[in-house]
Amino acid sequence: MAKTCIVCGQAAGSGEHVFPASLGGRRVNSGIYCPKHDNSYSGLVNEIAEQLDFLNAYLGVRPDHSKHPKTAYGEHTLTGETVSISAKEIKFTKPRVISRTAVGEGEELHLAFPNHQSVKQFAKKMEDDGHEWTPLSKPSARPYITGSIHHKRKFGGACGLGAIAYMTQTFFAQEFPELARSGTLSNFINYTQAIAKVAALGGCEQQPEEREELIEARAAVTVALEPFGGTAPIWWDFSPPAGARANKFEFGHRVTVGIDGFDGQIYGRVALFSTLTFAVHLGTAPQGSATREVTVDIDPLAEHPPHDIDKHQVLSAPGRVQVPEHATEGLANALADGTQQRAFANLLERLEEHQLLKLARTMSTALAPCSTLSLFEARTLIEKELDQQPQQIWRLVTAVVEGLRAEMVKGGMENIAPVLDNLIAYDAQSASGLSQQAEATLALAKAALVAQMEQDCAAGVLHEERIAELMGRGPGLYAVGQLVLAPVLQVFSESAHPNEVSR
Ligand SMILES: [Zn+2]
Repeated sequence: MAKTCIVCGQAAGSGEHVFPASLGGRRVNSGIYCPKHDNSYSGLVNEIAEQLDFLNAYLGVRPDHSKHPKTAYGEHTLTGETVSISAKEIKFTKPRVISRTAVGEGEELHLAFPNHQSVKQFAKKMEDDGHEWTPLSKPSARPYITGSIHHKRKFGGACGLGAIAYMTQTFFAQEFPELARSGTLSNFINYTQAIAKVAALGGCEQQPEEREELIEARAAVTVALEPFGGTAPIWWDFSPPAGARANKFEFGHRVTVGIDGFDGQIYGRVALFSTLTFAVHLGTAPQGSATREVTVDIDPLAEHPPHDIDKHQVLSAPGRVQVPEHATEGLANALADGTQQRAFANLLERLEEHQLLKLARTMSTALAPCSTLSLFEARTLIEKELDQQPQQIWRLVTAVVEGLRAEMVKGGMENIAPVLDNLIAYDAQSASGLSQQAEATLALAKAALVAQMEQDCAAGVLHEERIAELMGRGPGLYAVGQLVLAPVLQVFSESAHPNEVSR
């Protein structure tokens, strides 16, 4: 069959990604769109990529057009500065002034840079601008502990849904090439084209004063939606088909497309990270169409084919969709009863667990020789490894301290709260991002972990699973809590019960 564009019927062959490259799709199909119409959807693809950027960055997904895993940007709550977020690290994007003191005619600056290259660029710029300056010390690498990062993303919206509709349409065209060109999809394609135009014009968010072009594009969406009764033929869906298989991949996406020959329903389902779930009604197939459903699981963490997808086909329609009477009903209900928040919290938990296991794997390789070393050498090795994980140790510290704080407040002992807050206080004016006391707390926590790991290593039980427990679960929290909280609790219990002490 000739490869023609499903939008215009001209020769296809643009080499479009079936699942968006920016989300880690690795497969190209050159027979679905002409270059012009492939391009016409890029605004929608950019929008969905932006909505998911934090998740993809945290997970370490590599966009197919890039050599490096995804980086997202957020705002550091304490300083208001921009930070970049990747699976590897969170760091500032620009040099920062830590402190400045007047000295004679000039001033002494304490600066922090995101990396060595940035130091060099700064030095060059100072020279180019003709500033007189002397470095007072060589730059030293220091970890920076980030507290909360502000990163707000809205999922869905008209463009987000449009992007999912476009993805479903592309998969449908791949699996049902003849039907996709039969005109059956024309209303659906009109809709994806119309919303794509809005996205391409930067109209995903309502602008205060919109230019004529955008107003026209919005009006075109309204017209394109008429055949669907005025609402988009895609919606958030929280009723997955009964008996559906679990996704083949830990953080896999799933796209399902099918036809139910019984009434001709052409449908689709999309589940991103097995968490954000949508259903799509693409149209009605001619009478006599065969019933068939294709499900593709996509692994955004696969580097390349062939193990990046897992495809299944059945000659039934278990995934057929129930078009809601009011399109936003599903989402409204899911928000109201907490389904959506729970699903999202569950995804974040899975992401954290994934990070922890990755860390445990790396550390266990590095620490493998420890049982053959002398006690002193083993400790040095363990210290060196833990020195590279300040952010993870900080997570343990804050979990322990905040956990106790919440418990104390609940038990009516609010007066301990400031003491606990001080243990983990941030300081924007310090090189580490922490107050002196918090730095001491972090050092104590590290010491607690070193001691526990030394002991485990000597006993021959410092394996990968144990490292994961110490770096992120109960046993680690316990070890850290013992050392970090004991002095506070002791002082507090003495002052809280002076009679008992004097007795
Ligand atoms: Zn075309």
